Order: sequence, then C-alpha cells, then structure tokens
Amino acid sequence: MYFDHAATTPIRQVARDAWLAASEFLNPAGQYAAGRAANRALSEAREAVASLLDCEPIEVIFTGSGTEADNLAIQGLFRQSELSRVVSTEIEHPAVLETVAALGADVAMLPLTDGRVSSFEPLAEPAALATCMWANNETGILQPVHELVEAAGQTPVHVDAVQAVGHIPVSFASLGATTLAASAHKFGGPRGVGILLARRSGLAPTLYGGGQQRGIRPGTIDVAGAVATAAALREAVAEIDTEQARLSELRDRLRAGIELIDGAVIHSTGDLLPGHLHVSFPGAEGDSLIMLLDMLGVAASTGSACASGVNRASHVLLAMGVPEEVARGALRLTLGRTTTSDEVEFLLAHLGGIARQAREAGMAI
Ligand code: PLP
Repeated sequence: MYFDHAATTPIRQVARDAWLAASEFLNPAGQYAAGRAANRALSEAREAVASLLDCEPIEVIFTGSGTEADNLAIQGLFRQSELSRVVSTEIEHPAVLETVAALGADVAMLPLTDGRVSSFEPLAEPAALATCMWANNETGILQPVHELVEAAGQTPVHVDAVQAVGHIPVSFASLGATTLAASAHKFGGPRGVGILLARRSGLAPTLYGGGQQRGIRPGTIDVAGAVATAAALREAVAEIDTEQARLSELRDRLRAGIELIDGAVIHSTGDLLPGHLHVSFPGAEGDSLIMLLDMLGVAASTGSACASGVNRASHVLLAMGVPEEVARGALRLTLGRTTTSDEVEFLLAHLGGIARQAREAGMAI
C-alpha cells in the first residue's frame, strides 16, 4: 500500500508506451532525416507541455530533474542581476533552500502564518529574485503565488511548482512568474525528467556546452523522456477535476479518522493539494512510525529528509512553529491515483495501534 505519492508516483502506462515508442530516436540536432524525425517528436512534446501549462513552446526547457530546474532558474536569475538580495521562504524544498544558501546573497524570508506566506513586506525592497513554492511537499499547503508575483513588481519570481503541476491547474501565462520548475515523476512521468519554464527575458546561463535549449540547459536532449513527460502530463491534466474531488474525499476521511487518535496533531490545514496529509503523533519517533507501517506493508514517509540516518525534525514544521518533540513524531501520508478507499480504511484500522506502539518505543536521544 503506497502512501508516498508526493515522493514519487508510479509511472503511467501512457508514459511507458510513449517512452518505448520514442526510445529509438537519435540526436534531435542531427542535420539528416533521422535527426529531423527526433526533432519533430521533441517539438511536439514541447508544444504539448506548453499548451498544458499555458506558455510558449520556446519557454519550455527539459532538464534532468526538478532540482536541476530550480538550480538553473535561481542561479541564472541571480547571475543576471546586479543586486545581491534574495527573497524566499523557510519552507522551501532543499532544491531551493540549499541553492539560495549557496548564492552567498542577503536572504530575506517571507513571514508565515500556519505554514502559508502571510506578508509580502520583504518584497518592498528591490531584490535579484524572489522564490517561493506553489505547494509545500510536506504539508500540501498552497502558497499565495499569484499575489506574490503581483507584490514582487519588477523583481523576477521563480516558482517551484514541482508538487503542483499535474495536480492542480497551472497557467504560466496568468501566473506571470519569470521561471517555474516542475518534475515529471511527480505526475506519472519518468523519473529523471524536469521541466523549467523560462520567459524569454533574463536568465543567465549557469551550464555551458553545445547551446541546446537557448543555452540555458545545454546537452543532448532526452527525446524519449520529453515525449513520455508530455504523455503523462496530458493524462494528469485531463484527470485533475475528477482526481481532486476523489482524493480530497479520501484525504478528508483519513483526516477524520486520525483526529480520533489520542494526541494526533494535523499540520495540513487551509488551502491544500488534494492528496496531502501531514500529521504528528507526539511522543513517537517518525522513524518508528515508518518502520511499523512498513512491517504492515504500508509505505509512507516522515516528510523530512533524513541526514546520514539521523532522524531530524522537519525544517518545514519547525518554521511553522511546531515544537521539536511534535515535529519529530511526524508522518506524511500522500495519496495519489492508485489510492483506494479500502487502503485508507486499512490504514485507519491500524494507525491508532501503530501510534501507541511507536510511543511505547519512545524517542531516540
Ligand atoms: N521541489 C519540490 C517542492 C519537491 O517536492 C521536489 C521533490 O520532492 C523537488 C523540488 C525536487 O524534484 P526532483 O526529485 O525531480 O529533483
């Protein structure tokens, strides 16, 4: 039973079929018939992604991951600017958090209330860029990215939409951001393909090579990966309405059951992605919860990256003001297109007992 769809979601059959059919394409830069055929398939994939995310085909850059898309955007915007100030949030994914930290910039953090950006005041001063996620990968809380872009004025904005694309409607044109990152494996595409949307203006190169993809992401393009990504995105976007309704109903059922468990704390509140539920069982260690669930055949995560095997409280929960002891008992359950109501009922039947067992095991020092 898979409750870790936010980490990665199983590949869609349409994406596998599309990948296999495109896997024999040669280099799309080749100036002969086989190169032109590969380039045609690549252009069609680019056009499909552009139409599904409401942008120009030229704005679509295929990368090797969401992490790479975040890096190219943030480093590229920073290098483009003469300013050394950056605006961000404390709840970003490490792909953004660490990239921002590595710039050596003055970083101003946007204030949060209940895990959501609640003031744009740091945007009043000029900055090289502002970067904010569309939806948090741990809590699923949606951020006010449209208002943020508006408040940023002339400051370029990068939006990490890795958790949002394929799950809620995304229009790059109406968002008005300068750059946006997505990742194919979060919506049923192959792992190892990211998408960077970048307006024609203002993104300095940070990688050098053969000049492919406007020189922003040079290197021979993975045509099969791009074709499979477009196929997965097409299916994901077509299912958004029905999956949003189905998953939020399952998530609400799960939340209602968890609320009855002694001491349970719910972190996912307010405007949310449909499939996320981040909770804590204070007095339990997140790792113990995961291990006990694994023994039952349930895959879930604590939501926070685990550094060299040491269970650390999530930086997201700490930034939300959650006490460390509560944050350490975190469990992130994320639902997706394979999740059934039987699985939710199975989980609910066992979760109370698991929380008790994990509490009895106690906390690591
Ligand atoms: N940004 C967010 C919000 C994510 O959730 C993730 C992956 O978990 C990433 C970036 C990184 O994406 P990728 O795994 O494709 O590198």
